[in-house]
Amino acid sequence: MPILVKKLLIATHNKGKLHEFQTLLAPLGLEVLCAGDLNLPEPEETGATFADNALLKAQAAMEATGLPTLADDSGLCVNALSGAPALHTARWCGPQKDPMVGMARVQKELGGATDRSAYFICVLALVLPKGQHELIEGRCTGHIVWPPRGTLGHGYDPFFVPDGHAHTFGEMSETEKQAISHRGHAMEKLLALLAAP
Ligand code: IMP
Repeated sequence: MPILVKKLLIATHNKGKLHEFQTLLAPLGLEVLCAGDLNLPEPEETGATFADNALLKAQAAMEATGLPTLADDSGLCVNALSGAPALHTARWCGPQKDPMVGMARVQKELGGATDRSAYFICVLALVLPKGQHELIEGRCTGHIVWPPRGTLGHGYDPFFVPDGHAHTFGEMSETEKQAISHRGHAMEKLLALLAAP
């Protein structure tokens, strides 16, 4: 049974992510609202997993508005760094939230490591007003390059080359990235669950 929604609130204050969600949801013809426009506060990400954080962001925004709400928690996991920065991916960008700071830290911590493999992960949480919720995960594996390349995309895109490709996410069009990205894969699964009445 598809989940019927007319309006969907996207509980993110990240403009790059919001733009990707809006594009990915466009085929459904839903009314899409965003947390920034409604002046919703950003809850503290206190969860122990990506799923916990996605759920707490979606739950808080749904409780504040009564609207079906979608949130994601995402990050980069670098194998030679025992999976870091993972839940701390945003924090590694520092108080200015500068992705260049985060990428430089990953590069510094990798040092001369020959294993530069990494993956992006995105966990989506859809929370409905009656309390039903869905958790969906998407991943994209690849490797880290230095220096970063490309000015497209957002966040850590310019230093991540997905497997099977020569370009970084920062050098790819939005359509190219979404066809293979962690968020694209998770959204594909979500779109299969949703239907607009
Ligand atoms: P969140 O808001 O806690 O989910 O933070 C996710 C962190 O991972 C932020 O620093 C983002 O820039 C980064 N991130 C998540 N998804 C992507 C992506 O698709 N490309 C590049 N960086 C991403």
